[in-house]
Amino acid sequence: MASGGRQRPQHHTQAKRNRTFTLDDLYAMKEEDYERLFRRMRWPETDGEPVCPNKECKGLDHWWLENQQRWKCKGCHKQFSITSGSGFHHTKLPLPTLLKALRTFILGSKGNATSTLMKDVGIQYKTAFLLQQKFRDGLKHCIDEITLEGEVEIDGAWFGGYIKPENRKINRVDRRLKENLNGKRLVVVGARERGRHGRAIARVFEQEWQSIPWLREHLDRSSTVYSDEGQWDNLLASHKLLQVNHSEEYQKDGFINTNQMESLFSRLRRFEVGTHHHISGKYLAYYACDGVWRENNRELDDRAKLERALGCIMQAPPSRTFGGYYQFGAANLWRGTDDNPFAGWVQ
Ligand SMILES: [Zn+2]
Repeated sequence: MASGGRQRPQHHTQAKRNRTFTLDDLYAMKEEDYERLFRRMRWPETDGEPVCPNKECKGLDHWWLENQQRWKCKGCHKQFSITSGSGFHHTKLPLPTLLKALRTFILGSKGNATSTLMKDVGIQYKTAFLLQQKFRDGLKHCIDEITLEGEVEIDGAWFGGYIKPENRKINRVDRRLKENLNGKRLVVVGARERGRHGRAIARVFEQEWQSIPWLREHLDRSSTVYSDEGQWDNLLASHKLLQVNHSEEYQKDGFINTNQMESLFSRLRRFEVGTHHHISGKYLAYYACDGVWRENNRELDDRAKLERALGCIMQAPPSRTFGGYYQFGAANLWRGTDDNPFAGWVQ
């Protein structure tokens, strides 16, 4: 077993030196501190000095309107706030609430995150759920289309439908049955470089084999690819592919080619197990994106992680996640629709 399969990143993240943004730090923040932080994340190019969000203007001169708590651009006369045109564009929550919520989301427990968020920040469940989707929507804009190199592990994890993918062996049998191919059951395909600094990518597909063109594009031709015995054979035409037989003992032991993907997949599994809603389509893509962002920023200390996440969201375009969650019942909204910010994530 290669050494790369036994990395334990949680040791690293539990180190004291990483606890650089505690609750005490948060409580010590004054109103102006919140504003300074959000401004710096929104307009890093001017070190927090407001820039008109009107793309044709981008003016730097403006009046401060005390009553409205907004700026008015001297160039185009548009009014704007810190969050205008950002990933928080349609959010009415005050900045301290947004930061508390983001802290819980980024650094908080890994259980049912929506309930935790609701209790920690004192907002309704629906508000908390939508806010999380806005967070994920914003994080997506910081995920680069990277090409993985070296030793790369690929794996697929199935979600949606009525069969919970808790047991890998059952999963492998069930996913080939026709009744499970109803479009609600989708596979997240992930790839991750081995080793401590390994980077990850992921996408959502109906079948594992459909991911081959995407994998070809994002795995360097010189890389060595490790997989299970899934539908990956077509990668052999372009890549060195090492498939390992799936056996009982490997399953119990934690199969080497899934170890590196596990932190990404386990987040999705926990969500599916801990909720009454099936995650499918658009929402599955949200979680895949969430997993990739966390995976690729896992080495940052708490403050750096929180600031990077805030920067991603503040510089993202307005989130298109509104109240759709409660109208969204079927799986058929997930692909190709204009209002789906994750259309490219589901192929
Ligand atoms: Zn302007």
